[in-house]
Amino acid sequence: MNNIFTIPATGYAMLSKDSKFTPIEFTRHSVGDNDILIEILYSGICHSDIHTAKDEWGGTSYPCIPGHEIAGQVIAVGKNVTKFKIGDYAGVGCMVNSCGECEACKASQEQFCQQGKTVYTYNCPDFFHGGKITFGGYSSNIVVSQNFAIKVRANAPLDKVAPLLCAGITTYSPLKFSKIKAGDKVGVAGFGGLGMMALKYAVKMGAQVSVFARNENKKADALALGATSFYTNTDKNIVNERFDLIISTIPTSYDVIAYIDLLKFGGELAIVGLPPYKEAPSVSIIDLVHKAGKKIYGSLIGGIKETQEMLDFSLENEIYPETILITPNQIDEAYEKLTNGSGQFRYVIDMKASN
Ligand code: NDP
Ligand code: ZN
Repeated sequence: MNNIFTIPATGYAMLSKDSKFTPIEFTRHSVGDNDILIEILYSGICHSDIHTAKDEWGGTSYPCIPGHEIAGQVIAVGKNVTKFKIGDYAGVGCMVNSCGECEACKASQEQFCQQGKTVYTYNCPDFFHGGKITFGGYSSNIVVSQNFAIKVRANAPLDKVAPLLCAGITTYSPLKFSKIKAGDKVGVAGFGGLGMMALKYAVKMGAQVSVFARNENKKADALALGATSFYTNTDKNIVNERFDLIISTIPTSYDVIAYIDLLKFGGELAIVGLPPYKEAPSVSIIDLVHKAGKKIYGSLIGGIKETQEMLDFSLENEIYPETILITPNQIDEAYEKLTNGSGQFRYVIDMKASN
């Protein structure tokens, strides 16, 4: 096979789980007939990037270039591309390809490709390009099938768009799945990048929203963004309200049953947070059976169609993440803050900023 990895790129990589981010040069695969080449302008830092970069879930390949909250500008298009033209804005989230033929892909739930061919944006074999491990968005450019790129209207604030591609869709999707409507009571557990978006969407949908955090640091922010209560305790005797839906975005160990206890009869707990495997909480089957009448489900990002819907909804309603722009040489510092409890909401790397 001819070498298809012809497009030069630069990126910021972890070289081992304990290293610092280091600039590297690499190549992207060439622009196929259905592909677009995007110059990356902004890349959000998701806690999944940290879990992966530090090998907290196991199975990380190094060098590892994370980043699946990508916003940029199209600089080349394949000959069959109709969705984008050069100069358009585009976004890329957690996936860059899938089989396209199975039941899940046909339903635009590509994250559940039944052939196991979902290609995640980083740290994943690219089944369609020789199995090479994918590199994410902390980089200069990316080549992606037009079907997996999200259209972003001209003049959109791209630094704010980037985090929507993961934090946005991952919280929008369970709110839709649980059919949240005006007057419903929603709890948001874990108030970082994802939690902040869950609060904003739920408020926009007319829900009454409470936030659960592990300290008081962001209480004022939560109330300013429309939360009606803010808790640092999940004791059902102290929390004096019950919820239709609680979305847990917590990336550490915690008591899952305590949140189930805070659901109304028929209420739902949507789990999106993915703690490191060594500290992932387990749930007692006996407890679960005794808590019957409530539902608990996991939720994984959202399909491409829903991601486009989420992005259009966000731009139309001006629902944007709270962000802090950083330069590439501040990535290590941002990781440290997001791990030690001093993190703000979403750090977004300005990929064009010089160090
Ligand atoms: P952030 O680090 O931005 O936010 C996590 C928040 O949780 C922080 O505010 C942190 O508090 C808070 N927190 C930590 N431990 C607790 C606790 N025990 N109780 C209450 N709050 C707690 O992470 P993200 O929002 O980017 O990601 C959250 C999780 O979601 C990660 O595990 C990530 O991998 C996962 N994820 C899952 C996806 C999916 O598809 N299911 C997609 C994207 C992410 P503090 O401010 O004090 O640090
Ligand atoms: Zn993410």
